[in-house]
Amino acid sequence: MSARTLDGQALGRVMREEIRAEVTAFMQQQGRPPGLGIVLVGDDPASEVYVRNKLKTGAEIGFRTDLERLPSTATLADTLAVVERLNGSDVHDGILVQSPLPKAMGADAEQRVFDSILPAKDVDGLTPVNVGLLVQKRAVLVACTPSGVIELLDREHIQIAGRHAVVVGRSDIVGKPMALLLLHRDATVTVCHSRTPDLANVCRGADILVAAVGRAGLVTREFVKPGAAVVDVGMNTVTDAKTAEWLFPEGHPRLALFRSKGSVLVGDVHPQVVEVAGALTPVPGGVGPLTIAMLMRNTLRAARARMGQPVA
Ligand code: NDP
Repeated sequence: MSARTLDGQALGRVMREEIRAEVTAFMQQQGRPPGLGIVLVGDDPASEVYVRNKLKTGAEIGFRTDLERLPSTATLADTLAVVERLNGSDVHDGILVQSPLPKAMGADAEQRVFDSILPAKDVDGLTPVNVGLLVQKRAVLVACTPSGVIELLDREHIQIAGRHAVVVGRSDIVGKPMALLLLHRDATVTVCHSRTPDLANVCRGADILVAAVGRAGLVTREFVKPGAAVVDVGMNTVTDAKTAEWLFPEGHPRLALFRSKGSVLVGDVHPQVVEVAGALTPVPGGVGPLTIAMLMRNTLRAARARMGQPVA
C-alpha cells in the first residue's frame, strides 16, 4: 500500500485563486489593495528565497507588497524604527519580520522586534496578544504554517475530532500553535520534543502525526501507525552523500538530483513512510506552499478587520 499524497502545491493554487477574488472585492470597496510590509535584515540566503516567494505570490494575487531591507549591520533600534513606521502606515495591513535576525543584534532581538508589531497587523500570529487569543480560541491571526496544515487536513477530508494527534516539535511558530489548533478541533493532542523518551512509540499512537523538527528523515516507518495521516513540516537541505543515500534508494530521481546539485531538500519524514502511512505530505510541495497562501489570507483578514469588515 502507498500513502495518498496530500498535495499542498495544488491546494495552494486553489487558495491563491480564492484569495485573488476576495482581494478584488476588497479593492473595489476600499479603493486600495490590502498591503503587506516585509522586513528583511541582513543577507541570509534562505531568507532571501522565502521573502522573494512571498513578495512574488502577494503581487501576483493583487496585494501591495513592500520590502523594507536593512543591511546586516543594522541595529535593533533601526529595525524597531522600521516596524514602528509600518505600524503607523495606512496602506500596510500586515507586517512580517523575516526570521532569523542577524545574531549580532543580540539574543533577545527577535522577541523584542516581534513584540513591537501591532497585534492587528501581526500576520505571523507571533505577538503575545495574538498567541493569547489563540489559546482562548478566538484568534483572528494565527501562525501561517499550522493554519495551513489544518486547511489541508480539512480540504482532504481527514477527520480531526476525536482522533489522537501527535505533534513533534514545540516551537512558537509551528509546534505550539499546531497543537492548539488541533486541540481546538477536538483532537486529543500529544506534544513531543527533544526530551521525549521513546519518541517512536509515542508517535506510533498517532492517527495524525505532524513532524516539525528540522531533522532530515527523523520520522522513520517505525514511528508510524499503518494508515495514519502524516504531515511533514520539516525543510532540511541535505548536503552529505551518506544521508542522501540513507533516504533514497539507488536509482531514485531525488538521489540523482542530489548527485548533480550537491544538495537536496527533504522533510523530517523518511520517504519510506509512504509505504506505511495512509496519507502523506511531500517535501517539497506539501506544507510550504500553504504557508505562503495562509500569509496572504492573514493579510486579507487583517485588512478587513482594520476596515471594520467582517472577518470570515
Ligand atoms: P525549531 O528549531 O524552532 O524547533 C524544533 C523543535 O523540534 C524543538 O521543539 C525541538 O525540541 C524539537 N526537536 C529537535 N530535535 C528533536 C528530536 N531529536 N526529537 C524530538 N524533537 C526534537 O524549528 P521550527 O519549529 O521553526 O521548524 C521546524 C522545521 O519546520 C524546520 O525544518 C523548518 O525549516 C521547518 N519549517 C517549515 C515551514 C514550511 O513552510 N514548510 C515553516 C516553518 C518551519 P526542544 O524544544 O526540546 O529543543
